[in-house]
Amino acid sequence: MPGIKTGGRKKCKGPCQKMKPVDAFSFKDKARTRRSGICKTCRATVALAPDKRARQAALAKIRRQKSRKELIAFLGGKCVDCGYDRDWRAMCIDHVYGDGCVERKQYAPNAIYPLVRKHQERYQLLCANCNQIKAYENSEWGPRDE
Ligand SMILES: [Zn+2]
Ligand SMILES: [Zn+2]
Repeated sequence: MPGIKTGGRKKCKGPCQKMKPVDAFSFKDKARTRRSGICKTCRATVALAPDKRARQAALAKIRRQKSRKELIAFLGGKCVDCGYDRDWRAMCIDHVYGDGCVERKQYAPNAIYPLVRKHQERYQLLCANCNQIKAYENSEWGPRDE
């Protein structure tokens, strides 16, 4: 069963989704019998929030990050230009016929995911560097004359 500890490790239900030693999960109760399903690292993101609203925003962010990671994996997980695949945070979901990173422009992150899944052929992954270069080359000012 997911979340049940196996051999001193268990899977985090938070955004990291990693197998971690049980020590990475804080106790849920004072009797110290049950551990949280979300690791301390993931929990800290949420716990830092000062009030309920901010906490919900933090949780929403965690969910967004998770679906973004899934989408990046769905699109192959690496930059189509240079093959960069080391950090999902440096990845841009790029419109093949557009001029750079679509998600930061006309679309809210939640709106872009269904579109990408539906029209996969129109999107590609670019790393931040390649995306910047593409955006520069396609910018309305054109490449600057030397
Ligand atoms: Zn975690
Ligand atoms: Zn690249």
